Amino acid sequence: DVRHGPILYLEDVNVSFDGFKAINNLNLTIDDGELRCIIGPNGAGKTTMMDIITGKTQPDTGSVWFGSRHNLLTMNEPDIASLGIGRKFQKPTVFEALTVFENLELAMATDKRILPTLTARLTGEHRDRIDEVLHLIGLAELRYREAGILSHGQKQWLEIGMLLMQKPRLLLVDEPVAGMTEQEMERTAELLTSLAGKQSVVVVEHDMGFVRSIARQVTVLHQGTVLAEGTMDQVSNDPKVIEVYLGE
Ligand code: ADP
Repeated sequence: DVRHGPILYLEDVNVSFDGFKAINNLNLTIDDGELRCIIGPNGAGKTTMMDIITGKTQPDTGSVWFGSRHNLLTMNEPDIASLGIGRKFQKPTVFEALTVFENLELAMATDKRILPTLTARLTGEHRDRIDEVLHLIGLAELRYREAGILSHGQKQWLEIGMLLMQKPRLLLVDEPVAGMTEQEMERTAELLTSLAGKQSVVVVEHDMGFVRSIARQVTVLHQGTVLAEGTMDQVSNDPKVIEVYLGE
């Protein structure tokens, strides 16, 4: 199973809600291991695009492929998730009464579709994976603390860690730095950058400073379609993009 070329491929995708075209001939290619930022004004179709990729919304026309073998339009949400597509919603949802460690443990168990007796059944391999993720997300020292005591930023990292337990190939992350401190944003930039390469990461984000700090490639959505694509410098100097943002 050689990993190369695009991992995600949307072609001529259209979605209407009651006659309103939320997604209008959208074409998007995400390469394997890439870190991509999606920006665009409110109503541009960013959420709908994520919903299409995860199978929550079915397009009217078009095609959506994961790798070269998986036609996502023929699959339901759980099956798409089990291909290795993880989605992080904007608000953190961790189990506050459980420890950081137990949250990660539970996230791993979900993958096996069993509810484990916490801790009792962990193999060495499982512990190693949890350890690895704890270090990645910077919460190793807090592993035995309840998730409820974590800061907002730490909860966001924990939830990303929970997704990582299932070794996703593609992570979709919705506005990760909303409500974060400057320092937490820097740490989040490091985290997302370090994840790319091992998996593909697609980040929807409003904070332009943050996007500039992490993105190699930026896609600007507007009225359900791609308005511009390139580096942050390229898209932010694009007259079409400037017009859309000034008009917001
Ligand atoms: P973004 O995430 O970029 O702000 P959305 O994908 O949420 O944009 O929305 C794109 C457009 O589609 C908006 O105009 C929104 O009002 C509309 N829309 C999204 N979901 C629905 C829905 N379930 N029913 C009707 N209209 C919707």
